[in-house]
Amino acid sequence: MDVLVNLLKEGILEDINSIVPVGGGSINDTYKVKTSDKIYFVKVNRNVPDDFFEKEAEGLTLLLKAGKIRTPEVIFIGRNLLVMEFIERGRESKEFWNSLGCRLADIHKVTASSFGLDNHNYIGSLEQHNGWYNNWPEFFVERRLFPLAHRALTSGRLERRGVELIEQLSKKINELLVHEKPSLLHGDLWSGNVMADLSQEPVLVDPAVYFGNREIEIAFTTLFGGFDSSFYESYRESYPLEENFDKRIDLYNLYPLLVHANLFGGGYSNSVMTILRRFA
Ligand code: ADP
Repeated sequence: MDVLVNLLKEGILEDINSIVPVGGGSINDTYKVKTSDKIYFVKVNRNVPDDFFEKEAEGLTLLLKAGKIRTPEVIFIGRNLLVMEFIERGRESKEFWNSLGCRLADIHKVTASSFGLDNHNYIGSLEQHNGWYNNWPEFFVERRLFPLAHRALTSGRLERRGVELIEQLSKKINELLVHEKPSLLHGDLWSGNVMADLSQEPVLVDPAVYFGNREIEIAFTTLFGGFDSSFYESYRESYPLEENFDKRIDLYNLYPLLVHANLFGGGYSNSVMTILRRFA
């Protein structure tokens, strides 16, 4: 705790009244820190690359600039910590899910001239490769699937056949995916990264932003459960999805499954192989 107090002092919080660990994070240690006049949410990690929290803050800023949905205000970015406004959790009511659907559709209407982002960022603790591409299917294979498949191969968490199947898949990926304009994406949108505030409005946290096809984002929300059906109804009403989206969900979820295969191996690596055999 002393180390944390010193870090927080660097991070401009001086008159600390209490520090309470908060659960729920998968990567970092997280704390609720009270000072005499404000409550902060602090993420700490001593084993991350120098720019890890800077990239998270940049992602939050990009979403904030879109002006469509609340994100926590960033107070201080350090090498080992990120200090943010603390969001008091509200109820995930039907109105909350409806609002999330509409607001996410609005974010997805924010576009760019190409797919990607200027620089790399992180998804969980893994580097997410970006750069700019004119072709979405090519970006998906080159910048999303291959880097993580090679990484998993090196650490023994994916068999060589997996990489071969992605090579096979890359030859027909143009026909398998649909072509739409680039959308601003949260990039890591599962139920742990969206919260309801006290007005039952959605707040997005922990992004891995880039401009991509929005289908990858909606697919991801189905992977670990937790999104109410009213979310999908209001999203589709605001920004209808292309025909046969459901048939592409597993293909898109190769990406988050590869993230999990790299972090945990086991069943996730098997799921990656099963999907690859189906599509390649
Ligand atoms: P990690 O990067 O370790 O996965 P997250 O940023 O996802 O950590 O935060 C962990 C959990 O803490 C989230 O699932 C969310 O419930 C909660 N949380 C995130 N940001 C805030 C915040 N600014 N205020 C209050 N709670 C937060």
